[in-house]
Amino acid sequence: MAMPRRFVSLMYHNVVRDDDAGARADAAGLGRSITSYFVGATAFAQQLDAIAATADVLSYANLRPFFDKATDAPAARPLVQLTFDDGWRGTVDVAGPLLAERGLQAMLFVTTGLIGAPRFLAAAELSQLPRETFHLGSHTVTHRFLNELPDAEIRDELRQSRHELEDIAGYEVDTLSIPNGACDQRVVKIAAECGYRYVFRSDVHANSPRTGPLNIGRAAIRATTRLETVARYLQGDLRRERLRSTLLSLPKRTLGPHRYRQLRQLLLGQVRTEHEMCDLVRSAVQAAPPAMSHGVYPRGTSHPTAFGPATRLSQ
Ligand SMILES: [Zn+2]
Repeated sequence: MAMPRRFVSLMYHNVVRDDDAGARADAAGLGRSITSYFVGATAFAQQLDAIAATADVLSYANLRPFFDKATDAPAARPLVQLTFDDGWRGTVDVAGPLLAERGLQAMLFVTTGLIGAPRFLAAAELSQLPRETFHLGSHTVTHRFLNELPDAEIRDELRQSRHELEDIAGYEVDTLSIPNGACDQRVVKIAAECGYRYVFRSDVHANSPRTGPLNIGRAAIRATTRLETVARYLQGDLRRERLRSTLLSLPKRTLGPHRYRQLRQLLLGQVRTEHEMCDLVRSAVQAAPPAMSHGVYPRGTSHPTAFGPATRLSQ
């Protein structure tokens, strides 16, 4: 039976070892709101087996033909895409072999301010990743809310991370994952101006040539996501998730971003994650030697950031 021509993109963050000691070490010092996105190795392997059995994985190389309407033939099997955000070490160390064994490719969106930080991948490791297993994309420099930044700072985040990742990868980086799902038309326009062809967001929808390459929706996979739920995603059924995001989107316009975030925190506990990610970048920048520090956060200077007005970063 021919399937409609669309794909579901799955959003992972990290895959961690299953054993108790390993799991404790992986989670040590991190809040529950971050570790709730850490999927265990066995659960991840089961999800990959379900994917390999029932779906085809859309690789980076096939993104362009997919969105090219000239080849609008229906696919024989559901299409799915695998993505990882942030650049956690377990993405490569734990998930990498499981992907490679099955010949599957994932997008790996790296927050460049976290490169080489504890728990995160180093530049030398990123530069050696087999291309058939991981394709690198940007997840900005500092993981801030792009839709709350002025245009010039958005450009800095997008250009600087892109250039750094191109130096590491040795190929053109034209894919971007928006941190915290903090996206709007202004952010997308600037991303396109900065050379990004594919923008991955946190809106939940199946992707088609009609929804387009600058509005790629994704379904988040959490530690508690059941195999049946992943199987439902593979069939393109995102109705429950879409309903929830529709309900959450209603007050955004009326409350404004700050009160909206408070509401989300009440409903989802999600805002904690976002602030914890920003905190990790800040401590990585503080710990980095001067040569590694980033222009966006020059050492020893005050800088207005999402962490609060004029946060001193090198104290
Ligand atoms: Zn992220």
